[in-house]
Amino acid sequence: MTEEQSLADHRFECLVCGYVYEPNVGDTKRAIPAGTAFNELPDDWRCPVCNTRKQKFKDIGPADSPSGFAENLKYGLGANTLSPAQKISSSLVLWR
Ligand SMILES: [Zn+2]
Repeated sequence: MTEEQSLADHRFECLVCGYVYEPNVGDTKRAIPAGTAFNELPDDWRCPVCNTRKQKFKDIGPADSPSGFAENLKYGLGANTLSPAQKISSSLVLWR
């Protein structure tokens, strides 16, 4: 799988206004069809809400899978006094 393909279902969040581009929705305002990956958008595409350029968008990962990045983060937060089972249950509380 190439890097470009792996981005196909990634959502991108506008760092300015919080708008999230969903590839499986597209952008009806600018006639972007559903199924268009963010990296396939035209270079002059801009946030439909605040008109910010693509460069200001952040990859927040696919919609339907938990973020592995966040998974790693919560185990680095110094919960050393907890048993593994406690870690898991407290993580669920924190991240749901
Ligand atoms: Zn925006």
